[in-house]
Amino acid sequence: MTITSKIWVLIEATAPVFTRAGLELLTPARDLADQSGQPLAAVVMGCHVEETARQAVALGADEVLVLDHPAFAQYETMCFVHALSWLLETYRPSSLLISATEHGRDLAPRLACRFHTGLTADCTQLSIREDGETILWTRPALGGNLMATIVCEHQRPQMGTVRPGVFTQRTPDPQRAGTILPIPQVPILLNSKVQTLQRLTGEGDAFTFDGKDVIVSGGLGMQSKEQFSLIWQLAQALGGVVGASRGAVHEGWVPYAHQVGQSGATVRPKVYIACGISGAVQHLAGISGADTVIAINSDPDAPIFQVADYGIVGDALQVIPDLLDALSQQ
Ligand code: FAD
Repeated sequence: MTITSKIWVLIEATAPVFTRAGLELLTPARDLADQSGQPLAAVVMGCHVEETARQAVALGADEVLVLDHPAFAQYETMCFVHALSWLLETYRPSSLLISATEHGRDLAPRLACRFHTGLTADCTQLSIREDGETILWTRPALGGNLMATIVCEHQRPQMGTVRPGVFTQRTPDPQRAGTILPIPQVPILLNSKVQTLQRLTGEGDAFTFDGKDVIVSGGLGMQSKEQFSLIWQLAQALGGVVGASRGAVHEGWVPYAHQVGQSGATVRPKVYIACGISGAVQHLAGISGADTVIAINSDPDAPIFQVADYGIVGDALQVIPDLLDALSQQ
């Protein structure tokens, strides 16, 4: 079987949150393929993934390599590494993009290590060098204070993970033509040293910001876990969800899944309300895709006001109850 695409993206279709993150990767990957004049391949991995394979074509893949097997129904590190190593060895792509989900962050370094190649983690911008082949991987560095562009000069495949939420999915074109190639000969790891006995989910594990139009976020300015409950009340009153700064997450006021920013989620709501959040560069890295930012902060010089469309200078512990009162009277 001949596979012409040299630029590949991995779509881990084990749960909607991972599938969405993988489909999102087709946006920058399609641009890379167009810039280099090459076709684009998606590797869709999971169990019963026919629909995802069709979506990948509609969203920009020219070829879809389908790894469909009950062993891929749930993510298991060594099983995925084994199958993908074989695939990369057999078809030798020049680049591989993986979503920086918790699974992608586990999988990508192991694969890169097997191929003695470089891995640029957590990229937010991608482009192609003049040679038409080398990817320029750009990611925040030095605590988010500068953007570093990294290249993998010699080893192939060049690999990178891309932050979920940074790119938006393209508009699907159901008429788009593409080739779907099942790979039934993919090897399945039978004697893994790791056996999954039980899967446990922690507090907040199932939470996602995906598709949420309103996010009410709280920071250290909320001052205690009890007072942080105002954030939950305001989010509920506005039909939104709760976000948080890393400060609030570190205090244990809210689970990590709600953290917004460089080391948390990248969000794209219609409205983002930051309450008692200073607006550190690492927090702002997660909200640049928000349509409207509203800030409530007692310090008129807080950096959050430099990016806010609307600002309230005041004590969030008084302003939020006033807002809740006003909303309850509507
Ligand atoms: P603070 O900076 O302490 O700000 C609290 C704000 O509340 C202040 O502006 C204050 O004026 C205001 N305030 C106080 N009392 C009130 C009141 N009663 N009413 C209204 N306002 C009040 N941070 C993130 O958020 N997300 C990340 O993903 C992230 N990743 C990071 C990654 C790295 C590598 C590093 C180095 C840092 C990262 N940080 C991240 C941390 C970041 O630098 C800040 O420390 C953090 O965002 C501060 O949280 P905060 O705004 O809640 O707290």
